[in-house]
Amino acid sequence: MADLITIAHARELVSKVTKPLAAESVPIADARDRVLAADLAAAGDVPPFPCSAMDGYAVTAGTAGRTLTIVAESRAGLPATRTLTEGEAIRISTGAAIPAGATAVIPQENVDAQDGTITTRTAASAGDHIRDRGEDMRAGATILTKGTVLGAAELGAAVSAGAAELTVARRPRVQVLSTGDELKAPGEPLGPGEIHNSNGPMLVALAEHQGAVCPPPGRLPDDRAATEAGLAAALDAADVVIVSGGVSVGPHDHVKPALATLGVEEIFWRVALQPGKPTWFGRRANTLVFGLPGNPVSAVVTFGLFVRPALAALQGRADEHMFQDEAVLGTAVPRNADREQAVRVRLERQDGRLVALPNGPQGSHIVTSLLGADALALIPAGEGELQAGAAVALEPLPR
Ligand code: AMP
Ligand code: MG
Repeated sequence: MADLITIAHARELVSKVTKPLAAESVPIADARDRVLAADLAAAGDVPPFPCSAMDGYAVTAGTAGRTLTIVAESRAGLPATRTLTEGEAIRISTGAAIPAGATAVIPQENVDAQDGTITTRTAASAGDHIRDRGEDMRAGATILTKGTVLGAAELGAAVSAGAAELTVARRPRVQVLSTGDELKAPGEPLGPGEIHNSNGPMLVALAEHQGAVCPPPGRLPDDRAATEAGLAAALDAADVVIVSGGVSVGPHDHVKPALATLGVEEIFWRVALQPGKPTWFGRRANTLVFGLPGNPVSAVVTFGLFVRPALAALQGRADEHMFQDEAVLGTAVPRNADREQAVRVRLERQDGRLVALPNGPQGSHIVTSLLGADALALIPAGEGELQAGAAVALEPLPR
């Protein structure tokens, strides 16, 4: 089918027009899961001073069997003020500053303590049990690079490096809209021909999981004027508009003509993908618009393949999953002659190999096929079946 573009081509086109959002500064406490927008350097050396790695005694280097007089204490946060000289010991805690004059620490279990003195049971060499200044970080060294997703370890490192606020990418504002006269809100009783709007909450959950800020999802009736009004408001407020359903060419599909009227430029329409053929992508200035198919599984699959990488790129986050994982098929899968298939699979380790097993019926309306699935396996277009044992590329199933 000449008018369908490949998944890879569609992703290239999305990537080409997706520009990172501006950066903002946020307190460490609000920075988890955000994407660093500038390299972070250490403000000072870490540790900032030589300190003890053990509870014990700061001493000068020397042999076993010395009897030393305890002359002071260096506690964490409360350094000794006295300089240590030969024949003396200063009681010291883990993390406390090494007193001037001391060159080693003897752990407390290696001394016999008497009243006011200790006798060393082991020799002490210069540097023993001392953490050097700057051992962890050197002042000015780059600790975190732009594009890093801030997890617990990154936040800890940033605080150690002296930061209180971090420069991160702004979160994309994503407006989710669901079209369809048949749609009812969650829990609402259904009249004849009606179904619940599962896409709205699902797409919001997916987008928020990718770092987006989502106002409540909107619902648009299958009416041209209402569709246009809803899309116009979304375009004015959002960085990304995700509209599900109504994007095809039926008499009640108003999304494409409405977007055209609103000046949204079409970048692609229809992908050689099953499920997810009727996928539309365009933009107006820097606002991206994804018209996703109405069927819930198709909406999730196309979100994963096209929207997820765009939300990552808007935040300056590398999309580390691009076609890099592979598995072997556990069972034969019928191929689609014209379209690549994104099959929901469970993954199992068998004899050291990662095996992909289709997760039940694959219809694009079977929401339950998403439950318990681990990934999407991409089955290349072609005749017949792709045999068990064939290698397939994996894509993450968006959560
Ligand atoms: P459409 O793309 O509008 O032709 O819709 C394709 C199929 O998806 C139809 O069966 C719709 O009822 C269904 N559908 C559309 N939108 C939603 C939604 N928000 N939640 C659940 N199903 C939907
Ligand atoms: Mg519809």
